[in-house]
Amino acid sequence: MVGRPNVGKSTLFNRLTGTRRSIVGDEPGITRDRIYGEVEWDGKTARLVDTGGIVPDDEALIPSEIYRQAKVGIEEAQAIVMVVDGRTELAAPDLELARILLRSGKPLFLAVNKIDTEALDAGAENFRQLGIHNLIAISAEHGHNIGDLLDEVFAVLKFPAEEEE
Ligand code: GDP
Repeated sequence: MVGRPNVGKSTLFNRLTGTRRSIVGDEPGITRDRIYGEVEWDGKTARLVDTGGIVPDDEALIPSEIYRQAKVGIEEAQAIVMVVDGRTELAAPDLELARILLRSGKPLFLAVNKIDTEALDAGAENFRQLGIHNLIAISAEHGHNIGDLLDEVFAVLKFPAEEEE
């Protein structure tokens, strides 16, 4: 999970994982401030990595942070969920992050968050130009479309065969 501060990553993380979360800190370089949790869906368990960690809420996503988040997503993840705030305009850091992630070729999902009240797709319109094919309007706070997001992400994940577990 990647995205600018304040788009709702923590809210989404908590909704997806419940209370099972662990903070990994004090490693140098890009491994600092990742937060790991487990998501159970459809009888399977996936690991969720929140790259947003400890970036202050009021700080714009600075270039080094863009590259750090992209790198963590690209190196560690089978699939990447980029979270944006559907109530705000598309911003340059969103474009930059999307561009880097798309180049990686990893499955990329755009979770357009905070679509609480309008028709679920209305607020997502701004973000279609990011070029991310898998766009899902959600409300992390109210739980709208969370199941759809999980269906799509879990569909591309590879799990160990049951007999190997
Ligand atoms: P993060 O910095 O990306 O981890 O964002 P947070 O999860 O801390 O959320 C930032 C703010 O957005 C908080 O005030 C949340 O309550 C709010 N927020 C998160 N999800 C939603 C949502 O679906 N709808 C609305 N209206 N607010 C939300």
